[in-house]
Amino acid sequence: MQGNLLQTVNTGLGRRTSQAPERIDFSKISTAVRIPNLIEIQRESYNRFLQMDFLPEERENTGLQAVFQSVFPISDFRGTATLDFVEYQIGNWQCKCGRLEGLNYLRANCKHCGSTIKVNPLAAGETLCHKCGTFNSVRPQLCENCGEPVGLKHKHDQQECQERGMSYSVPLKVKIRLTVYDKDPETEALSIRDIKEEEVFFGEIPLMTDNGTFIINGTERVIVSQLHRSPGVFFKRGAIYIAKIIPYRGSWVEFEYDQKNLLYVRVGKRKFLASIFLRALGLWFGKEIDGKLVKSDAALEDRVKNASFADEDMLRALYVTDEIRVEDGRLMIQVPEQGPTSLVGMKVDFDIKGRGPDPIVRSGKKVTTSALEALRKANIGEVEMETSQFEGAYALSDVVNKESGEVILEANNEILPAKLQEIVEGGIDSFSVFFPERDDIGSILSQTLKKDVITKPVDALLEIYRKMRPGDPPTVQTAYKLLEAMFFDPRKFDFSRVGRLKFNIKMGKPERDRINDPLLSAKDFYEVVSYVLKMRKNPSE
Ligand SMILES: [Zn+2]
Ligand SMILES: [Zn+2]
Repeated sequence: MQGNLLQTVNTGLGRRTSQAPERIDFSKISTAVRIPNLIEIQRESYNRFLQMDFLPEERENTGLQAVFQSVFPISDFRGTATLDFVEYQIGNWQCKCGRLEGLNYLRANCKHCGSTIKVNPLAAGETLCHKCGTFNSVRPQLCENCGEPVGLKHKHDQQECQERGMSYSVPLKVKIRLTVYDKDPETEALSIRDIKEEEVFFGEIPLMTDNGTFIINGTERVIVSQLHRSPGVFFKRGAIYIAKIIPYRGSWVEFEYDQKNLLYVRVGKRKFLASIFLRALGLWFGKEIDGKLVKSDAALEDRVKNASFADEDMLRALYVTDEIRVEDGRLMIQVPEQGPTSLVGMKVDFDIKGRGPDPIVRSGKKVTTSALEALRKANIGEVEMETSQFEGAYALSDVVNKESGEVILEANNEILPAKLQEIVEGGIDSFSVFFPERDDIGSILSQTLKKDVITKPVDALLEIYRKMRPGDPPTVQTAYKLLEAMFFDPRKFDFSRVGRLKFNIKMGKPERDRINDPLLSAKDFYEVVSYVLKMRKNPSE
């Protein structure tokens, strides 16, 4: 019955009707399970987050501890100084008069195995040793002066805070270790110059009251958890096509295009041509550079400066490309051993014969996918194609006359019939093509590249740095490290298992593929771009 009721509400298909929406009352259904103490859940959760009555070595890597662990160590760009997290302490643990200080006074040793066990400061009693399972009768150590055990010191209690407009909180102190290195100017080898350890006051951390509330500036407040946008990749079609990459932690990346046919990327709040971003990612595309493996800054700078990722590389990563051989004025399209080819859909001008009596493709017919398979099986490596079949073809890379060294056609330009004639006659052995309009990717990327004046990854990096940090003049190193930190450092970027799972499902990969990899690879970003570009031609998606 209930299901039917809900259905009648929905039959309006979202259109407004004059009828008031039907209301369903579930309040009269008796519950089978008792509602748990929901405030207790909050309190336990906050205790697990703080772990404040634990000694640093007793803490699990969760909550605040995990946050510090994930943020530290922090090093400077030159790598000559490091800040390490040692431990934190929440609140002052003292007896009433202050003579006894520290959580150690709330610990005892197991009489059987000697491991530390916690002591309840308020009551003596039997305490179980979690190591060996022995029951110990322990009592808190009392101060000889004031007679009290150690407890959390509050400057002001809850009521006082409410009356005097103060926050109910305790200080958070963090012990941090600074290591400074000397760098040998020639070998760039590091040697430790100095180590310093210091406890620093980090701020006040609010405590939760028994009601599950906080008292902030005298006012009792509740924290309502905010829904976190689920990590993953999200696509939207409409007047603007959008791909959103949402990590659990780190910068969001969005790719978008509209009727103007240019692909843009949004990183944080900055928007620029997507090809700039894709060009910079070229540095990570073949894993040619790993910043952590390159020994010196100078070497890194050298590698980045000399790295190349040309239009051709970007086009090849996204479009279906084909190799054409020129022989005696004839154009021979190569049959790739695997993968897609624009040969499928081209019309042949004569029978293509295999071993059997019937031709694989008859004259005047188009090459089909099954015909392509038959060509591969018959080991036919190339097929002659009329010039008319190259309508809409673009040059993948510069077409150069080998004898004169003259560039006949630059990469990413349409091969018009006159140009094709020139290529056929101009002593060119081979060239590569793609068909932006016919391709599922469409012409947007090709057009975006035409608008983009940047040709080298290093310039793309510098441009991204200028966009992200306006007014701060970039160096090759800082620009490289900015992008590396944003997307290729698991401390700054975490796609999370949920994100990866969604990505895998959307991209048609095995669900658990790289499930524990927190990072997106350069190729992953390219796959997202490929997907969003293909959406326009695949209305069913
Ligand atoms: Zn005392
Ligand atoms: Zn024990």
